[in-house]
Amino acid sequence: MAITGLPEPAWRKPIAFIDLVAQQERIRSRIDAALHTVLDDGNFIMGRQVGELEQLLAAFTGAGNCVTCGNGTDALQLVMMAEGIGPGDGVIIPSFTFVATAEAVMERGASPVFADVDASTFNISVASLKRCVQQAKTDGLKPRAIIAVDLFGLPADYPAIREIAAEEGLVVIADAAQSFGASLNGDAVGTLADYTTTSFYPAKPFGCYGDGGAVFTASEAASELLQSLRFHGRSPDSNDHFRVGLNSRLDTLQAAILIEKLKIFPDEIDRRNTIAQLYGSRLGKLVTVPEAVDGARSVWAQYTLRLPDGVDRARLRVALHNEGVPTAIYYPRPLHQVSIYGKSPRDPEGLATAEQLAESVLSLPMHAYLDSETQDYICAKFSQLLR
Ligand SMILES: *Cc1c(COP(=O)(O)O)cnc(C)c1O
Repeated sequence: MAITGLPEPAWRKPIAFIDLVAQQERIRSRIDAALHTVLDDGNFIMGRQVGELEQLLAAFTGAGNCVTCGNGTDALQLVMMAEGIGPGDGVIIPSFTFVATAEAVMERGASPVFADVDASTFNISVASLKRCVQQAKTDGLKPRAIIAVDLFGLPADYPAIREIAAEEGLVVIADAAQSFGASLNGDAVGTLADYTTTSFYPAKPFGCYGDGGAVFTASEAASELLQSLRFHGRSPDSNDHFRVGLNSRLDTLQAAILIEKLKIFPDEIDRRNTIAQLYGSRLGKLVTVPEAVDGARSVWAQYTLRLPDGVDRARLRVALHNEGVPTAIYYPRPLHQVSIYGKSPRDPEGLATAEQLAESVLSLPMHAYLDSETQDYICAKFSQLLR
């Protein structure tokens, strides 16, 4: 993640923002063998590894059903289709998220309604969510669903979200693209909402070597519908088509890779938590680091901190880059300020926290293979350059 136009950093050993090479080295021979099996079988679409992975992931989460698909954005869109969400419907989403969350809603002709987030968790604010449900009604929309996003790997406050959803008759969707493997009060991501979507994009905590995604649901009926929708709306036992669907399947090759990656995933989650703890203890006095949330276990898709007022973030990033420390800004703009979503309904009291976060957040290198020596270096340089 080089900042373009800058000279090469003086510090030579490159630090990866997300290191996919170290992980590959760890399991390369098993990946090679798994890929060869798929090549020998020749069933590249919906080969047996796809079903096998779905069973493994359903068991891993306890969700009951897992339906894989082409990517995390399609996963959200498939849920919108399964619930028949479309024009005239309002779907409440946090403004501080990746663009795909809103895109899946708009693509169906429904309207995103932007809620603010909590500064300490980066996740949807329950008070704002309530105001957004009312705002949707005021705007003549039918509130249909909430897409809570587990930002940076931390589950949203599902017990509170579900309470509001029950009162208002809304479907709860968890956009868990960044949080697969996390849990809340002992319940795994995948079981916390009516539908949970995730992404296997390479840089996500549970990534493959290409695009991929999945939907988790406890409902057998919803699972069957999703299986039809991802495969051109075809009926399960004939060549008939009952509905319009998508072409959105997980490649057999990617499923075979994920089966191997799942074996080391619990260990990788442990490592990420150790690394996050170390960042917290080293940097917690200088900047606002993510707080531990009671009962929640994050998978740390990103380690995102908030800089104090008055720090020139752009300059700090350049200085860190020059010392070989890559950083990123997730997200530089809340979605209610992105051109295409700029006119969408939103919390009538404003989205001050999302706007403040976009100005002050900074993400540091985070992956399961960040060794303590490198992390010491990052923390030392960060502390020195912040002053
Ligand atoms: C990555 C991501 C997505 C989209 O996943 P893709 O597989 O890239 O389509 C959706 N929502 C969030 C919060 C994400 O981080």
